[in-house]
Amino acid sequence: MELGTLSHAPSSPFQLSMSNSASEFGTCPFCGSAIPAGAILVEYETEGETRVFAECFDCGEPVQPQ
Ligand SMILES: [Zn+2]
Repeated sequence: MELGTLSHAPSSPFQLSMSNSASEFGTCPFCGSAIPAGAILVEYETEGETRVFAECFDCGEPVQPQ
């Protein structure tokens, strides 16, 4: 006898908004500046999640856009 189907819906702390323009990838978690898609430095997968580092022009260093 099984206990039923457990739902493991992936929960993301950040919801991606589809209303953003295509040119804006996300925002800097530190200064809140818009991160354009062209600023993406590297994409990689870890633990089933896709992570992205992009350069924030205001901070001048790689950040994880949110
Ligand atoms: Zn920044």
